[in-house]
Amino acid sequence: MEKRAELYAGKAKSVFRTDDPDYFVLMFRDDTSAFDGQKTQQLERKGRVNNLFNAFIMEKLAAAGVPTHFEKVLSANESLVRNLEMLPVECVVRNIAAGSLCKRLGVTEGQELQPPTYELFLKNDALHDPMINESLAETFGWASAEDLAEMKRLTYEVNGVLKQLFLDAGMLLVDYKLEFGQADGKIMLGDEFSPDGCRIWDRETRRKMDKDRFRQDLGDVIETYEEVGRRLGIDFDAI
Ligand code: UDP
Repeated sequence: MEKRAELYAGKAKSVFRTDDPDYFVLMFRDDTSAFDGQKTQQLERKGRVNNLFNAFIMEKLAAAGVPTHFEKVLSANESLVRNLEMLPVECVVRNIAAGSLCKRLGVTEGQELQPPTYELFLKNDALHDPMINESLAETFGWASAEDLAEMKRLTYEVNGVLKQLFLDAGMLLVDYKLEFGQADGKIMLGDEFSPDGCRIWDRETRRKMDKDRFRQDLGDVIETYEEVGRRLGIDFDAI
């Protein structure tokens, strides 16, 4: 597969075409951003760490029967993925209260959420990714009722797989955001799964081990991502 022109540069990743229109190269850069891009920083090794972290998680999910766009790792900071027609909707599951949920509802950070909650947000930087619901998504054509049902089913299925995976490695999966797209008329998990898009706490001490370290200036951002990965059994020097 030959890498061709850059198609799109996001805040932390770039997408390149290949000589096959069905496949893209996803490049994980060292750029980190938070608060709608207001806070940015280059963090050494981040591209490599998130690329290999994402590959590990996507492979676990695929093995558990979740269809994903991930094909294979191409280099330290690049992976080959299926070209999906992305839906502009972010799906968030929460097992423990944190982040915007606490701000919005005034609930205490750390409160266990049983059953885990499910929220939808519109992917729109200019509008600061507003919270939406299935009715709005359907009416405005962001996703069909069938797509929404499948996205919800898959997002909860991911929770079943990953909650246990992190728990077995001494960590709590607090919350996470997923994005989906379509290929061959099928809904598939797209984008990435890395400590940039989820919250992970140490099981015993509840130390934050995700992008909140960057958002809240807690330090050792990438060192902590690497610790999460090592606990899961990822070798970041494998490539
Ligand atoms: N999240 C994300 N991208 C976004 C918004 C949220 O990856 O544009 C992730 C975030 O890292 C967290 C989860 O989704 O793991 C829930 O985020 P929340 O709604 O609490 O918003 P935040 O506090 O991150 O602004």
